[in-house]
Amino acid sequence: MSTHVTIIGAGLGGLTLARVLHVHGIPVTVHEAEASPTARAQGGLLDIHDHNGQVALKAAGLFDAFLGLVRPGGEASRALAPDGTVLLDQPDDGTGRRPEVPRGDLRRLLLDSLPAGTVRWGQKVTAVRTLDDGTHEVTFTDGTTVRTGLLVGADGAWSRVRPLLSDARPVYTGTSFVETYLFDADTRHAATARAVGDGAMFALAPGRGIQAHRENDGTLHTYVALRRSTDWFDGVDFTDPAGAAVRIAREFDGWAPELTALITEGETDPVLRPLYTLPAGHRWDRVPGVTLVGDAAHLMLPSGEGANLAMYDGAELGEAIAAHPGDIEAALTAYEEAMFPRAATEADDAAGLHTLMFGDDAPHGFLRFFTDAPTG
Ligand SMILES: Cc1cc2nc3c(=O)[nH]c(=O)nc-3n(C[C@H](O)[C@H](O)[C@H](O)COP(=O)(O)OP(=O)(O)OC[C@H]3O[C@@H](n4cnc5c(N)ncnc54)[C@H](O)[C@@H]3O)c2cc1C
Repeated sequence: MSTHVTIIGAGLGGLTLARVLHVHGIPVTVHEAEASPTARAQGGLLDIHDHNGQVALKAAGLFDAFLGLVRPGGEASRALAPDGTVLLDQPDDGTGRRPEVPRGDLRRLLLDSLPAGTVRWGQKVTAVRTLDDGTHEVTFTDGTTVRTGLLVGADGAWSRVRPLLSDARPVYTGTSFVETYLFDADTRHAATARAVGDGAMFALAPGRGIQAHRENDGTLHTYVALRRSTDWFDGVDFTDPAGAAVRIAREFDGWAPELTALITEGETDPVLRPLYTLPAGHRWDRVPGVTLVGDAAHLMLPSGEGANLAMYDGAELGEAIAAHPGDIEAALTAYEEAMFPRAATEADDAAGLHTLMFGDDAPHGFLRFFTDAPTG
């Protein structure tokens, strides 16, 4: 017997799950809040790791197509001191264990691999509840509902499905990122383009940092990190983009101009991205017919793993459902028993990395971590 699976959220986690189910012939519908596949820019490059994201793409039967999306040469890394001195410079060694792809291309690959109509766009969930017969009812903003025997929350940090399983809510970590872009940087921002180099650049200090990444066509994509309260950020007027950039850059007074240019010369409006997390080790008792994947289950500090984990969760859950025909509870139990410890370990690692990057010893611990880590 094949149960129809209802997924909330067409991010990388939900779409990977949908694709793996489809490969196994299991019917699935994905309900997504956004109005269309192109409603929102999908962000920058993701490196896809061989132990999770790539495994998921293999389970989805999309690994070869994924390789066609890889941007070559993007695995170089360097670290600079605030005055611009180069502290570490690791060129791309060509081993390609963490190939980089634009997030939007990856999402498109997954979307195109699903039968037309699998994703229902413009269906934002407002409420979910469990009915007396144990099925789940999902309500959308337009008042329509669906009823399902197997509901998967792949709806990210502020999941509407999570309350069926857990009272946990994301908590502000004390640090926010501000996102900026410079375009055509080799020509228009040459000193900054040289400072960033061919891949990722980190300039870190206690409580702050500038991380930039070279993307296609000389685009420099930057996350400026600042350990400040939400009240402090509320005092920055992001409706005045130029003023906000100046205010954020003031926190980097004395830093090399080729670094602060990543803030002050930004060519898109700076976007505030406050970092929230669920408690590390977040878990729940089994509730029949419902589970979570990705950020909905284990929102953690950015460490380059979140999208990879979401995809891996999706693939693992899809495989578990396929391996337990007619026994949804066995499938969900198998998936969750492996996912909980995996996510807890990753959340601890992400918090540790965050401390190395922005803690009181920054950047020394981060440099040690980088030079000690196995390459490739
Ligand atoms: C600043 C920053 C940088 C990051 N960089 C990286 C990186 O380099 N590499 C990496 O691997 N990870 C990175 N991450 C983490 C990564 O972005 C997430 O872990 C990943 O996107 C989680 O995927 P997901 O599918 O679980 O959720 P999401 O990507 O959040 O997708 C959830 C989907 O659900 C939809 N949705 C939400 N609410 C509803 C609703 N009520 N009804 C219907 N649909 C809904 C959303 O519109 C969205 O399409 C970063 C995170 C941040 C904050």
